[in-house]
Amino acid sequence: MVQNKDDRFYNEPILRRARKGLPIKELVIDAHGHLGAWMQFYIPQYDAASIVKVMDRCGVKAIAISGMLSIGPDYKAGNRAVAQAADAFPGRFIGYVTPNPNYPAKEVEHELDFWLTSHNWMRGIKLHPSYHEYPITGPRYQIAFEKAREYHVPILSHTWGQGDENSLCGPALFADIAEAYPDVTIILGHAGGLLPGYRTAIEVALDHPNLYLETCGSFQAMGLLEYLVENLGSERILFGSDCCFLAQTAEIGRVVFAKLTTEEKKNILGLNAAKLFNYPA
Ligand SMILES: [Zn+2]
Repeated sequence: MVQNKDDRFYNEPILRRARKGLPIKELVIDAHGHLGAWMQFYIPQYDAASIVKVMDRCGVKAIAISGMLSIGPDYKAGNRAVAQAADAFPGRFIGYVTPNPNYPAKEVEHELDFWLTSHNWMRGIKLHPSYHEYPITGPRYQIAFEKAREYHVPILSHTWGQGDENSLCGPALFADIAEAYPDVTIILGHAGGLLPGYRTAIEVALDHPNLYLETCGSFQAMGLLEYLVENLGSERILFGSDCCFLAQTAEIGRVVFAKLTTEEKKNILGLNAAKLFNYPA
């Protein structure tokens, strides 16, 4: 967002520090990341060490991440890669376990149980109805919501409120799920996708206190952050980058340069996520 010196947000301290090129000092947790290469386009650096390097540059303490392989050809290999990254850089990676609903229910259940009970940093579940081509309301996803309830971990789902994806994971579909699982925190990735999606995501979130909105996306309109905070407040909005689909450096700039107060930025950048992921305990 364009800032000028008359702007009352111009001297906001988080922004002022970023202008100097310094890493953010406040707690920052990126709620939406991906580890590994992707088949559709070239990503220059996607390994754990490279991700940590960028995090250090930006001042990001931890990133909640799922495996690219998990939303692509091999969900179990992706989950293993995430756990390995968390082991290699303690406290820097919070792992999402990703189930693939196209595999047998028993196998998927075992995968969720295994990681959510055996690894301290596997603290969430990631769902991708678009890449897995399976609707969020389908019965094979129920196990994920049940396990989230059992282990008290949040679920991040890709959402997109436009085009074909709207019937798989449009934000309106989360109303019934949020009602069926009121004790499960559900994060709507990309805050509903595009403008019609944002509007619906806000409406649904206003009706259901267990829904959170996450901010990443390469199409995100100018003023989105302000729009979300104005309508929902800052306590259920989470900074996410979609790294390494997208650059964390650019995505964090959306929050830092938004016309928001320091308190609002702190909530979005890290305080809200710290509560959801019980970070750092
Ligand atoms: Zn994602």
